Amino acid sequence: MYPDLLSGAHALGFADFGAAKAEPLGPQCSARIGSYLAEGRNAGMTYMAGNLEKRLDPTALVPGAQTIFCFVVPYSRHASTKIASYAFGLDYHRVVKDRIHLFMQQNHEMLEAACTEPLRYRVFCDSAPVLEREWAVRCGLGFWGCNNFMISPVAGLRTFIGVAVCNVPFEAVDCGQLRSKKASLPTDCGRCGACLRACPSGALEAPFTMDAGRCISYLTIEADEKPAAGDCRLHGRLFGCDSCLEACRWNRDIEGWSELSCHSESLKDEEIATLSDISEEILADSPVARAVKSK
Ligand code: SF4
Ligand code: SF4
Repeated sequence: MYPDLLSGAHALGFADFGAAKAEPLGPQCSARIGSYLAEGRNAGMTYMAGNLEKRLDPTALVPGAQTIFCFVVPYSRHASTKIASYAFGLDYHRVVKDRIHLFMQQNHEMLEAACTEPLRYRVFCDSAPVLEREWAVRCGLGFWGCNNFMISPVAGLRTFIGVAVCNVPFEAVDCGQLRSKKASLPTDCGRCGACLRACPSGALEAPFTMDAGRCISYLTIEADEKPAAGDCRLHGRLFGCDSCLEACRWNRDIEGWSELSCHSESLKDEEIATLSDISEEILADSPVARAVKSK
């Protein structure tokens, strides 16, 4: 089944697609999250401590889940010094989820034929306690970078990851092909460290760690008390930060989905001094709206 699903995913514009058995993530992952929270590295993102059971076990999110499908969605690079590249289009949560729903509809018959009961699934993209990057690695789509991104050898780092958690038995999806795909992946960054040197705030002080309280992405998007535009902690940025992503040699120059770039002509660095300069029309369906609303 996997080759058919992969070509269906490619036809819909996904850069890559994989599957993994839906099961608890295990003690190693649990310990990693536990120490991240215990050290307070999540700063004000208290939601990360909530729903831990679901975060660590997708079968708690979707009863009877047996398989997780992972989809890699590319977005384009924008040479902005103020706004992260991922925010130049429509709200990615909806865009990505809609396309995955379409994929599931297109493949409904084949997927349901593999089930002993009607096909059931839920689709997520940064919209529920699901560790998308961890699952993407488990699905054989890439490896963990020192900057905490999932690095896709196919699509690089400018990607969103969406998932569908479903009751299709994992054995029905060709495991042999998935295993060989996984075995051919690089497993780590080697001695690079470029992202650590590129981080302007020192938030990325060591590989695979990140102090959210110092991270410009956190300070401009998530923090309850956001520093004002021009605060030296933001290094000139207004929404998000791409420095640890931009530094990576694994970036790929592939074209992202057009919906995820459709505001590129309207969001010019020279015309935006603060987020208030962005029009209501753009904010109506933009990832940036999150930072503006929570101000
Ligand atoms: S997003 Fe920016 S501030 Fe945050 S860790 Fe990466 S480079 Fe550092
Ligand atoms: S910049 Fe280097 S160390 Fe950082 S994620 Fe990329 S390859 Fe890994």
